[in-house]
Amino acid sequence: MQVNYKMKCNFVIPGDVVGTAEEFMPGEGTYVKGEHIRALTTGVTEVDSKERSAKVLPRTNAPVKLKTGDVVVGQITDLKESLAILRLAFKRGCESRPIHNTEALIHISRVKSSYVKDIRQVFGLRDIVKAKIIDDTPTIGLSIVDEDLGVVKAYCTRCATPLKLEGKRLVCPECDQVESRKLSTDFGTGMIR
Ligand SMILES: [Zn+2]
Repeated sequence: MQVNYKMKCNFVIPGDVVGTAEEFMPGEGTYVKGEHIRALTTGVTEVDSKERSAKVLPRTNAPVKLKTGDVVVGQITDLKESLAILRLAFKRGCESRPIHNTEALIHISRVKSSYVKDIRQVFGLRDIVKAKIIDDTPTIGLSIVDEDLGVVKAYCTRCATPLKLEGKRLVCPECDQVESRKLSTDFGTGMIR
C-alpha cells in the first residue's frame, strides 16, 4: 500500500531504550540496566501510561487488538448498494503491526451526517480509507462521518490511476474523468494523522 504514516509504536532492536525505570515498570520483552528500561527483543514498544508499564512485543507475534473507538486504515474491496467492504491494513498508533485477514463494513448511513443516495458517490473500488470503529461484534463496523475520516487515496473508476484534487474537484490525470468521494482532510498529504 502506497501510504506513509506517523510511527507511534516504535520499532526497537535489543538494547534500545524503551523508557526510564523511574517512569515505568519493566514489562515483557524488556530488562533494566541502570536507570533505563531496554528492549530484550526485536519488536514494537507498547507503553501504557495508565498502568505505567513499558513492554516490547516481538514483531512476529504481536497481533493488533481492535476495539470500538480505534482509527483504522483499509482498502475498499467491494461496493454493494448501501455497503462498502474493506480489508483492514493497520490501526493508527500501531502502524508497524499489520492486521491480517480482517474485513470491516461501512454502511451508507455512516458516511456523512447528510443523506447519501448511492455508496458509489463516496467510495470507489481500491480506495484507501481512514475510518473509526463503531462496532466490533459480530463484524467490524466503521464510520467516516468525522472530518478527518474518509478516503485518503482514491483511484479512477475508469482507468485505476490515482485521482488528484484540483480545487474541490477530484480529477483523473490520465483520462480526465471527474469523480466524487467523501474525502478525509488527510487526502493527498501522504500522511495518516
Ligand atoms: Zn482515469
